[in-house]
Amino acid sequence: MQTTVADHPLIAHKLTALRDVNTDAPTFRRLAYELTTLLGYEATRRIRVEPVSVTTPVGTASGVRLARPAPLIVPILRAGIGLLDGMAGLLPLADVGFVGLVRDEQTLVASTYATRLPADLTGRETFILDPMLATGGSMETVVRMLLDRGAAAVTAVCLLAAPEGLDRLAATFPDDAQAAPVRVITGCVDTRLNEKGYILPGLGDAGDRLFGTI
Ligand code: URA
Repeated sequence: MQTTVADHPLIAHKLTALRDVNTDAPTFRRLAYELTTLLGYEATRRIRVEPVSVTTPVGTASGVRLARPAPLIVPILRAGIGLLDGMAGLLPLADVGFVGLVRDEQTLVASTYATRLPADLTGRETFILDPMLATGGSMETVVRMLLDRGAAAVTAVCLLAAPEGLDRLAATFPDDAQAAPVRVITGCVDTRLNEKGYILPGLGDAGDRLFGTI
């Protein structure tokens, strides 16, 4: 697994505002959107393209277009929905799948309550959206679902990551030339998890901050 920390001053600035306990939900959602656009730029750096030529008003230019089949974006419900608009804006022709996972607050183990994914992902590049990579349990489950369906590459886009989650994914998905690449793009690697599985210093519960405590 490859990890990229997109340590750009604009990302650091927006993450700081996102973390602030006084940031209200509308501002939090806007910042999550903007951060996804910036992280998505890095996440799509190796997306496959094919050569094309285009007629300009005065000549012909060589260019590229995104290769087929179309990529698949998979937000992990519910907090991943907060990153969907930003990523879909970058990849408007992508399909969107969904995986719903809920975490048992005692054991911190996540169980799946909804899945809507194509049965066959052969040759497709996939992007998983989850703002918080904490224990890595949910992410491991979804990466496995996509690899099992034949995805050509899996890239996770996370606003914040904990070392524990990154270590777990690196151990589960070691770099292997034969296997589809697994990558994580994050805005920051924080210090550690607390006993409730929250990232420290983190930003609290991303789902609650996006959508309220329902
Ligand atoms: N999920 C969250 O929303 N926040 C954390 O800190 C960890 C997991």
